[in-house]
Amino acid sequence: MRKIAVLNQKGGVGKTTTVVNVSAALALQGRRVLVIDMDPQAHLTIHLGADQDPDAMGVYEVLTSNTNIAEAIRPIRENLWLLGASIDLVGAETELINEVGRETILAQAVESVQNRFDILIIDCPPSLGLLTLNALAAVNEVIIPIQPHFLALQGFSRLLQTVTLVKSRINPALQVSAILMCMFDSRTSLSSEVREDIKQFLENARESDQPWSQAQVIPIHIRRNIKLAEAPSHGQTIFEYEPQCNGAADYEAVASFLNGNKDAVQAPDETEDAAEAANESVSDDSAQVGAPGSTQTSDNNEIKETNAPAPSDDVPINNSITN
Ligand code: ATP
Ligand code: MG
Repeated sequence: MRKIAVLNQKGGVGKTTTVVNVSAALALQGRRVLVIDMDPQAHLTIHLGADQDPDAMGVYEVLTSNTNIAEAIRPIRENLWLLGASIDLVGAETELINEVGRETILAQAVESVQNRFDILIIDCPPSLGLLTLNALAAVNEVIIPIQPHFLALQGFSRLLQTVTLVKSRINPALQVSAILMCMFDSRTSLSSEVREDIKQFLENARESDQPWSQAQVIPIHIRRNIKLAEAPSHGQTIFEYEPQCNGAADYEAVASFLNGNKDAVQAPDETEDAAEAANESVSDDSAQVGAPGSTQTSDNNEIKETNAPAPSDDVPINNSITN
């Protein structure tokens, strides 16, 4: 089983949207996919319309009460299974404080279902705490979604340091395999500049033994698309909600790429979407639609940050990679 964590401690960059739609596309392409929601906000579970059963078990039970993971995994679409989250997960970190080996509970649980699925994709919370450590211990690949806005790379070093630490202490197989540009806006030079900065950073690491030395920027970016922001409030993937939009085309191409089709390419703009994109403001307001029950708790500051006005194109951009 291929095991991927979608990780960025910055809030609102497109992690959950990526997990939902890449996994749905892979399932439609015939792969057997397990998704795990490691975020107490439970956006993945909500987005997939799987939050209605109050008795459903999920990650919390697996981490804290020895529940057999096989009993907590639920089928939610053809070829797609979910280990869901609930707000209880907020307490897991404190409940496990005295537990020996608490970083590897999920990894051990996942081992026991290795043979049932082709791919595991984990949606991480916007933090680098115990839940994220459990995710990193359970996978061998990390995909980092990045929203190419002002200060997009702030905190990037810290994220990579965390991956390095987990690799050296807990999980030697861990690698950063890819960076995915989300909410990409080709009308601003900022998006392309951030992408070039990251490519350069990765190139500089090629000869090193860093866990990101083989990472690549996925050659398909996810365009800003209002349909992707609307789909969560309907509990639907983009392929159910609006299969003809740019968002569906982009995620399908990314899934094909991850599925081994290195010739997958960026689809051209749909006429309707292109017109819609032209009407959308460059600000991120539209991106905050959806995610019913959004608590905006831990990532409150991050949301403010993602809403910071984008600098105009002629202003020098401070996008150097920082802690
Ligand atoms: P968090 O850190 O809170 O878990 P996240 O990184 O998982 O956030 P998402 O929830 O996937 O980010 O996306 C943040 C918001 O942006 C959501 O409202 C989502 O619907 C919207 N969004 C994601 N991708 C796009 C896109 N390509 N175009 C427009 N809106 C998008
Ligand atoms: Mg999320």
